[in-house]
Amino acid sequence: MFENLSERLSGVFDRLTKAGALSEDDVKTALREVRVALLEADVSLPVARNFIKAVEKKATGAAVTKSVTPGQQVVKIVHDELIAVLAGEGEPGALKIDNPPAPILMVGLQGGGKTTTTAKLAKRLKEREGKKVLMASLDVNRPAAMEQLAILGTQIGVDTLPIVKGEDPVAIAKRAKTQAGLGGYDVYMLDTAGRLSIDEELMAQVEAVRDVANPRETLLVVDGLTGQDAVHTAQNFDERIGITGVCLTRMDGDGRGGAALSMRAVTGKPIKFVGLGEKMEALETFEPDRIAGRILG
Ligand code: GDP
Repeated sequence: MFENLSERLSGVFDRLTKAGALSEDDVKTALREVRVALLEADVSLPVARNFIKAVEKKATGAAVTKSVTPGQQVVKIVHDELIAVLAGEGEPGALKIDNPPAPILMVGLQGGGKTTTTAKLAKRLKEREGKKVLMASLDVNRPAAMEQLAILGTQIGVDTLPIVKGEDPVAIAKRAKTQAGLGGYDVYMLDTAGRLSIDEELMAQVEAVRDVANPRETLLVVDGLTGQDAVHTAQNFDERIGITGVCLTRMDGDGRGGAALSMRAVTGKPIKFVGLGEKMEALETFEPDRIAGRILG
């Protein structure tokens, strides 16, 4: 079981003198515990190391106010720094979808939740922002995936591009663009094919679609429970395709969310949404303070 970081730290600090400012030794002792907590939460080692270094600089010599213990003070500094790294710049969940019809490219590995997230996001854009959305599945190798998107579309009242047998992904993307223009859609979402692992064929296909669609947003959908694998996936897709943001799924599970910190630190790309279940409503804007709390336990 994970031990709550604040409790862990208060134990450490009970053994230390209560000074008016955090000494180098106090900070070092506390940060050893923070490091363990980060690694337990599945933050990658280099990211944890850099993070600790940044906190060490900020915490050493920081004044400890009367109302808190030195342990609480370190936790606060750690918490604030986590939020700063996770949040980055800009508003979470904000999408560049002006200039209709705006293409959104959805990418990721098979099983990560791409189709579900495409539909969840379409529903959100329709209901919260009043957008007219068209969804198109480009997963020509898996007819079931194409049908799944159509079924979800009917369920949430969002149009899907009719399926034409034998068409390749680039042709579907072009047809979606034309249809979106003619039909007066604000947004069209392209749900690309997923593979079990990243391979050349998948990347070349997604690249070709990207070049045709010129997407306003390219969102990577990854399973938040897969830890370091999710970070590698993000790195690969970003280098090859160029992503504008990440949707982390399965955050309703009991993962500690360390992947979010690693992903943010490694790719520099914002986490825009989190998936919190299988239902169409279960998509929320990414909230850094929630994940920070979860990482700290
Ligand atoms: P794709 O292959 O990437 O398109 O994945 P799907 O969208 O088909 O999702 C795979 C499975 O994961 C489905 O059973 C979804 O209902 C489920 N799923 C997707 N997102 C979430 C989530 O945020 N939480 C949970 N618990 N399940 C999810």
